[in-house]
Amino acid sequence: MLEAGGRRNPRRNHVLGRAYAHPPVLAPQYAAAVRIDLHTHSRASDGTQTPGDLVRAGAAAGLDVLAITDHDTAAGWPEAETAAPEAGVELVRGMEISTRHDGRAVHLLAYLPDPTYPPLVEELTKILDGRSSRLPAMLERLREVGVDIHADDVHRVAGGTAATGRPHVADALVDLGVVRDRTEAFARYLNPGRPAHAQRYAASLETMIRVVGEAGGVSVIAHPWGRHGGQERPDESTIAALAATGLAGIEVDHQDHDAGARDRLRAIARNLGLVVTGSSDHHGTGKVDHELGVNTTAPDEYHRLLELAAASSRRSGRPTPAVGS
Ligand SMILES: [Zn+2]
Ligand SMILES: [Zn+2]
Repeated sequence: MLEAGGRRNPRRNHVLGRAYAHPPVLAPQYAAAVRIDLHTHSRASDGTQTPGDLVRAGAAAGLDVLAITDHDTAAGWPEAETAAPEAGVELVRGMEISTRHDGRAVHLLAYLPDPTYPPLVEELTKILDGRSSRLPAMLERLREVGVDIHADDVHRVAGGTAATGRPHVADALVDLGVVRDRTEAFARYLNPGRPAHAQRYAASLETMIRVVGEAGGVSVIAHPWGRHGGQERPDESTIAALAATGLAGIEVDHQDHDAGARDRLRAIARNLGLVVTGSSDHHGTGKVDHELGVNTTAPDEYHRLLELAAASSRRSGRPTPAVGS
């Protein structure tokens, strides 16, 4: 069971990407060497690498386990799964779902759900549709308050980017001489509560935790105390209520959390019996300071997560389908 480097090879005990009931217990001297990164993005959402390149980069970075967690989609799974055995990486199939809780945006990591479960498909479709329909909605609201602005005006200042958002609308308003600068554009028109603000669809956090469970997966709240633009952080009682609805874990070790935040979140997880994860939130070159493996998940926490996913799958009767099935 030992590799040339004296390291136990965890892959021998695993079926790729699949949760199982009796994970191996790693002796501590080997456990320390196993590197697990449970949050990464590919070009299937806003990362810069193809899913295959992401997996190979994980192997090159010395990772034993890598989860692909693109925003609101499982589209990267098949390619990542094809690349994983050859790269020698255990792949965990996941996604990062856009949800809302008390008016606040919350990212929810879902691991090993059946992506064909109809209520999950329905929610993901609404989220993805909401993203592309936001620009037309903003422009329509601006025209309703008398600003003559059209999609062409936005595309002209956006310089051909695929993801046109509020900053580009703000630039177009400057370009048209409606406002002096971006700040004024947001203050007068684009911020929440202003006439042209269009809220994107996001599922409710509790609903999504339940749907992920019904789909045979497990939920981990992503970077709960991350940069949320001054929004309120979920405290222990809020997280306790989420745990009661089926939340399995908290992403504690994340670049958005300083040492103090990590200590406090770890204590909350311990109090509530939640799994503690750590991960890079890697986006290729799309995000600096998020190199693969910059934070990792402890093997025993990872195995607990797989146990919970296996239990969820047994309960729901929904295993994560193998690619091609
Ligand atoms: Zn996120
Ligand atoms: Zn992310």
